[in-house]
Amino acid sequence: MTESLLCELSVPGRKGVLFPKSDVPKASLPANLTRQRLPLPEVSEVDVVRYFTRLSQLNYCIDKGMYPLGSCTMKYNPKINEETARLSGFANIHPLQPVETIQGCMVLMYELQEMLKEIGGFAGVTLQPAAGAQGELTGVLIIRAYHQSRNDLKRTKILIPDSAHGTNPATSAMSGLEVVQLPSDANGNVDLNELRTHCDDTLAGLMLTNPNTLGLFEENVLEVIRMVHEAGGLVYGDGANMNALLGIVRPGDLGIDVLHYNLHKTFSTPHGGGGPGSGPVGVAAMLVDFMPGPVVDIIEEGDDEIPPLFGFVMPEKSIGRVKSFWGHFGMMVRAYTYIRVHGPEGLRSVSEHAVLNANYLMAQMKKIYHLPYDRTCMHEFVVEGRWDDAPDIHALDIAKRMMDYNLHPPTNYFPLIVHEALMVEPTETESKQTLDAFIEVMEKIADEAHNNPEILKTAPHTTPVGRLDEVKAAKELVLCCGLEFPPRERLLPDKCST
Ligand SMILES: *Cc1c(COP(=O)(O)O)cnc(C)c1O
Repeated sequence: MTESLLCELSVPGRKGVLFPKSDVPKASLPANLTRQRLPLPEVSEVDVVRYFTRLSQLNYCIDKGMYPLGSCTMKYNPKINEETARLSGFANIHPLQPVETIQGCMVLMYELQEMLKEIGGFAGVTLQPAAGAQGELTGVLIIRAYHQSRNDLKRTKILIPDSAHGTNPATSAMSGLEVVQLPSDANGNVDLNELRTHCDDTLAGLMLTNPNTLGLFEENVLEVIRMVHEAGGLVYGDGANMNALLGIVRPGDLGIDVLHYNLHKTFSTPHGGGGPGSGPVGVAAMLVDFMPGPVVDIIEEGDDEIPPLFGFVMPEKSIGRVKSFWGHFGMMVRAYTYIRVHGPEGLRSVSEHAVLNANYLMAQMKKIYHLPYDRTCMHEFVVEGRWDDAPDIHALDIAKRMMDYNLHPPTNYFPLIVHEALMVEPTETESKQTLDAFIEVMEKIADEAHNNPEILKTAPHTTPVGRLDEVKAAKELVLCCGLEFPPRERLLPDKCST
């Protein structure tokens, strides 16, 4: 299937707009502002509408179908979130407006901070970070600042299990700490013996993704946290996987000192496609003063007649700002809406269904795909995309073939500790019918892998673009088609279709 380009639809003289008759005298523009030729496509309104509508439908998205991309929690984003985010009092404000004029927004931010404190079991929350990874950096900087404030300067080492998300070592290294990798044991837990050897007075902390990227709950979590605390270190919790824990476990109660949330995963704000994210950070009591600011607080108590006045406050020993203005406010409105719509019982049921859906899929999948860590999973699980009796087939071939069946592929080749990993996260928003349809496709693909491997090796067959050479695509990037003005040659179809 090849799509026409807008320039191919061009017919000389065809117009999409009618300008009103000029009611001012004609004047000429300075020559250096004009050009002789402006080869824009000449098309009608209906051509343009159909062209862009078709283009928009070439992309796969959560509103089209299941999106089992492990680690990303691609749940359905309820449309009511969009309605509230578009309310004029939220959408049409200016970040430099005096706080007295945006008290409604301040209340929303304050209450969101309070709700996230309650959900995670923390004493303070900052809404500033723009994404999960930035929340991690913020959290690690808070850990550093804490040790430095106690003049405990030897603590430069941070431990990260090999089942952690890739952003953990990246953000730790950015913060200037020395990253030490911890191996997992045969059950997918942190290897306690290995951990013990690092528990000394150079330990700044440990970053724990729980559930980890195998989708498994850390069975020794209390012991891990106790060991790190006893050595004087702090524990960072990667809360991107909170979708498994809402209303069931509060990381703060386990002893986790700092944690980031992903509003664009757990709390249903859109992600992907370059949209803004939001990665608020929760901290235990002794870290509240180090949070980046400003945070929202009550600056004048109210009484029976006058409501309290909310303002922005800088925590006393703050690590400073990590984001311009107040963070991504539109995401906060969406997450706030989601939390209020569900309430405490509803949030718990979100996580229960996310875990149930993942275990339902895992139980079916392990009949056909090898499951290296075979125990009850949380909100996601990881299988191997390979069989000994189909030696040419790799996880990538399976992922590509899924696209022919109108499914988004799962995360593949991650986590690194599973060969040919396929990481599946169905989320709670998929019905049993959709999950059954997914299993049916995965069975068909397993059958094809053994009896018609070529169809997997050459997949996808039904998408606008076939199998890409990903190395070449990265090294010899061709960004063309339409959006740039001349030279005209760049708009010609034969160039554009490469
Ligand atoms: C997604 C994710 C992150 C990073 O979050 P971003 O918002 O993409 O920066 C960190 N840790 C885990 C476990 C994740 O799934």
